[in-house]
Amino acid sequence: MVIVGDDPASRVYVNNKKKACEACSIMSEEYALPAETAEEELLALVDTLNKREDIHGILVQLPLPKHIDSQKVLLAIDYRKDVDAFHPVNVGKIMIGNFDFLPCTPAGVMELIRLTGIEVAGKECVVVGRSNIVGKPQAMLLLHQNGTVTICHSKTKNLAEVCRRADILVAAVGKANFITADMVKPGAIVIDVGMNRVDGKLCGDVKFDEVSQIASAITPVPGGVGPMTIAMLMKNTVKAASLKLDTLR
Ligand code: NDP
Repeated sequence: MVIVGDDPASRVYVNNKKKACEACSIMSEEYALPAETAEEELLALVDTLNKREDIHGILVQLPLPKHIDSQKVLLAIDYRKDVDAFHPVNVGKIMIGNFDFLPCTPAGVMELIRLTGIEVAGKECVVVGRSNIVGKPQAMLLLHQNGTVTICHSKTKNLAEVCRRADILVAAVGKANFITADMVKPGAIVIDVGMNRVDGKLCGDVKFDEVSQIASAITPVPGGVGPMTIAMLMKNTVKAASLKLDTLR
């Protein structure tokens, strides 16, 4: 795990990932670099980790300081060790449905949906948010399971109306309490990816108190998608190690 700078949220995420590694008996090393670290220095570290035989997964915690080109850093990670599944090779593999790793947050969401016992096939699925790390891959995973998928974003017209069509609604907006009960179809499955801080308190994108009254299933924040994201990171790391072992057999 590589962390650059002292963003408090990133620190919490890295600490949680470290704890999860311990719980799974995965050896982890942390490289905490100062915020002023040069891009070349970070790239050199990634190169060293790429070459180490005893390391199967590399995670560079985002966001990186502004003077560092995140895309360049993500591209530098060996795609076979890319346990976040952000490398374009892995993104492409997800697109065509022939993947080794799934991006952790969308994969965690799919696992939560699976646990409801509801089949995605044929369902109206609405994803609010189109980021490369959540919204877009989320939509792709729902599509792979034969959902009828709509992606919404800040330019979407009649957002409430579109959301109300959803049997499965995934909110990945980054705005506290953005999804209200009038935007949700009664009986829908509502997955809240959002992690927002309001007066120091963590809350999601969904107005939980009112939406939980009408949804058939809903995830809390904290305690919903966040822990699943970390669980999927552990899964990807084990997969990366077993794929490496396969090449040695
Ligand atoms: P981004 O800021 O990259 O994307 C937010 C998306 O929401 C954009 O596509 C944006 O549209 C859309 N959006 C913003 N305002 C509106 C609006 N008024 N109406 C409709 N759409 C809107 O965020 P991320 O995808 O990185 O993260 C989303 C949330 O999920 C954040 O709270 C983040 O902290 C959380 N998160 C949680 C994780 C977890 O493990 N639980 C992991 C990763 C993220 P446009 O593209 O048009 O600007």
